[in-house]
Amino acid sequence: AKGNFGMNNAHHFKVAIIGGGPAGIGVAVGLAKRGVGSVVLIERRNEIGGTPMGYPKKSGGVPTFVEWTRGRVVFGQELVGRMIQRLAKTDTAIRLNMQVTKIDPAEKRLTLLGPEGVCEVTADAVVLAAGAREQTPAEKGWLAGARTSRISFTRHLTGWLERHGLLPASKPVVIGSDLIAYSAAAKLREGGSDEPLMIDRRHRPSSGLFERLFFRRWTRPDWSGGVKDAEIKGERSFVGIESIDGHEWSGDGVMVCGELVPNTELALLGGLAVELPSRQLQLARGQGLSQPGWFAAGNVLGGFHGAQWCYFNGRRVARAVSHFL
Ligand SMILES: Cc1cc2nc3c(=O)[nH]c(=O)nc-3n(C[C@H](O)[C@H](O)[C@H](O)COP(=O)(O)OP(=O)(O)OC[C@H]3O[C@@H](n4cnc5c(N)ncnc54)[C@H](O)[C@@H]3O)c2cc1C
Repeated sequence: AKGNFGMNNAHHFKVAIIGGGPAGIGVAVGLAKRGVGSVVLIERRNEIGGTPMGYPKKSGGVPTFVEWTRGRVVFGQELVGRMIQRLAKTDTAIRLNMQVTKIDPAEKRLTLLGPEGVCEVTADAVVLAAGAREQTPAEKGWLAGARTSRISFTRHLTGWLERHGLLPASKPVVIGSDLIAYSAAAKLREGGSDEPLMIDRRHRPSSGLFERLFFRRWTRPDWSGGVKDAEIKGERSFVGIESIDGHEWSGDGVMVCGELVPNTELALLGGLAVELPSRQLQLARGQGLSQPGWFAAGNVLGGFHGAQWCYFNGRRVARAVSHFL
């Protein structure tokens, strides 16, 4: 059954899953395989699939999602498309355009905000699969200075370049050096930019050698590691970055990439145990949270995990949830 709830109605499910990315889909598919019925998957966007949906298949494009089970690298939408096909074979109730804004862990009650207003959902078990987001310049700590225009994040790059074919910078500076940063550099190059400058406070890139070799087909970023206390320069528009020891890097746009922060605000506000300042959830066995009947799956666990890992992690959490029930 698809479609949204009416206003002011209370609804009860056996399991409520917060977030319809690879992890949430994995939980739903795993529960269906175990015969657990009455499951709702709640997603704030207007489509299921999560972060990989921003990466459509494009001829000549740069595929950046590893599909381990087939031993190849594909586009995000291809990978998650296969997960969605599996989800479609289940009886999971899907609620789109519904953001969970509040949780009551003891009552297992969720408050949802959607286009038709606010409603509540209760469940016997809840899985938090809300994913992660990139650190902001403020969260990076070592990156200070003005908040000029032309500072953007990977999701903006994805929107401009992947969805609209617009190149956000022709002389880009990429901040960060993980897989997300390298894939951004590759996409900028492929979109026609100069070879990006890549800056990080780490001395060596945080992505592995194989990942860097993979991206050499598209990019060999001009790397500067070990940058401490850098400042963003520019009055209104970005013109460059200057480090405390006087190094300068100029460009016409900066991409702040990677280093994910788990989306654990709901858990924190609801009083579930969350470590600060890392915002990591405190985990019990089977990826349970500090309140019985609450679980977490996927990138909300912290760190960087690929989309297929998150899907199978969701499948594993489904097992713990069905044992709990
Ligand atoms: C910017 C970025 C770029 C990435 N690039 C790559 C890449 O190139 N290659 C690769 O392999 N991996 C990449 N990843 C990692 C990959 O996207 C993840 O491994 C995977 O998508 C994580 O799955 P998930 O289900 O845990 O989270 P997500 O895919 O993020 O899904 C979480 C879902 O929860 C929803 N949600 C969150 N909060 C709420 C709420 N309160 N109420 C309702 N819904 C909510 C979100 O809208 C989202 O749809 C990237 C991640 C990020 C953040």
